[in-house]
Amino acid sequence: MSPKKNTINTPCCDFCGRPQSEVGMLIAGVNARICTECVALCNDVMNGEEQPQKKESRRPAARRPVDVTPAQIKRHLDDYVIGQDYAKKVLSVAVYNHYKRINSPHRSDNAVIQKSNVLLLGPTGSGKTLLAKSLANFLQVPFAISDATALTEAGYVGDDVENILLSLIQAAGGDVKLAERGIVYVDEIDKIARKSENMSITRDVSGEGVQQALLKMIEGTIANVPPGGGRKHPYQECIKIDTTNILFIVGGAFVGIEGIIGRRIGKKMVGFEADNSAVRSREEHLLAELQPEDLLKYGLIPELVGRLPVTAYLEELTHDELLRVLTEPKDSLIGQYEQLFRMDGMKLTFTDEALSEVVNKAERLKTGARGLRRIIEAAMLDVMFEAPDEKGQIDELIITPEVISGHAEPKKIIKNLK
Ligand code: ADP
Repeated sequence: MSPKKNTINTPCCDFCGRPQSEVGMLIAGVNARICTECVALCNDVMNGEEQPQKKESRRPAARRPVDVTPAQIKRHLDDYVIGQDYAKKVLSVAVYNHYKRINSPHRSDNAVIQKSNVLLLGPTGSGKTLLAKSLANFLQVPFAISDATALTEAGYVGDDVENILLSLIQAAGGDVKLAERGIVYVDEIDKIARKSENMSITRDVSGEGVQQALLKMIEGTIANVPPGGGRKHPYQECIKIDTTNILFIVGGAFVGIEGIIGRRIGKKMVGFEADNSAVRSREEHLLAELQPEDLLKYGLIPELVGRLPVTAYLEELTHDELLRVLTEPKDSLIGQYEQLFRMDGMKLTFTDEALSEVVNKAERLKTGARGLRRIIEAAMLDVMFEAPDEKGQIDELIITPEVISGHAEPKKIIKNLK
């Protein structure tokens, strides 16, 4: 994947790629500009204090992510993800800082900026994966999704943690250097929690071992990835990949964590703030009160929690938000169906009541927005099967709530009979 050219015409330093707004002064030459920091770096190099970075790592490929501001990142997320304002803000800032960190020239007097890997908490189908995917799309960096439950500690049946990186390398078209600046989303991180806080003495194949392996990768290591996937074996040639600059976003539903937070807050409040209404209003936003100790109690190991300094929670989508998910995003489900029918010369219309019926059904499934597609696909199967034979005869198909519940066919407006 090649990085998309930035559409914002800000003058940038042609050496480090940062825009004028970040570097202050730019000195312009015939065909290039240089910022004062790079001039200082060149000075250091000429004085033998620092080795120049390879030209390769300074190519404008990495420029785009720092060219955009957190607000611009969030605006893009708004086009694809409904609601979840808080999570979008947190992610936009984390990503902005992440790419700023990896694009800033290393100087000995600079403070070391820690990597800001992100933990997303929120119910199934609230948009955790979608957020990570939309981010990677916008930044035009390679992106891979993996499921923590498929991973096991080396030596046990299951995938090695390094397989996550193989997907990333594949997403980068085999370009390891590009993959080293990508984004990885690890889902279901809560499912590899230790069963209890004190289980570390016993062997916990599905939990602690995998967390340890993930930890190494997340904090930055040179990982050896078996090119064919699966398990590594001793005489195999492996691909080496540096994970230092890969942004890891891990997500999970963390069912029951509100209870842990609530107990902690409740305990603290007794005697200090024993006003019941305050306790109740706090309980409504318990996830906002999340502290690292709650994650430890849930079963994440302290080292891993320490490496996930940025935490954001996603809310369960409301009825209205689910309705918006159907029609508002740039690639909305309803928009996709309308387009499919338009290609056959037919107008497809979902009545408001039909959309509401889809959402009612999804709410009963309790899988958030995840259920929406399945419900529509099931309801539309017969329509999709039969409509192409009526191409040229039908002007418009109207989907009513009865079509969604499977009790009626769509209303058909026949051509020239309007
Ligand atoms: P999660 O990772 O939280 O379980 P996903 O991001 O995988 O959920 O969501 C599943 C699907 O539901 C997405 O592909 C998208 O179509 C839809 N979806 C979920 N949340 C949202 C949202 N907030 N806005 C728009 N679409 C959403």
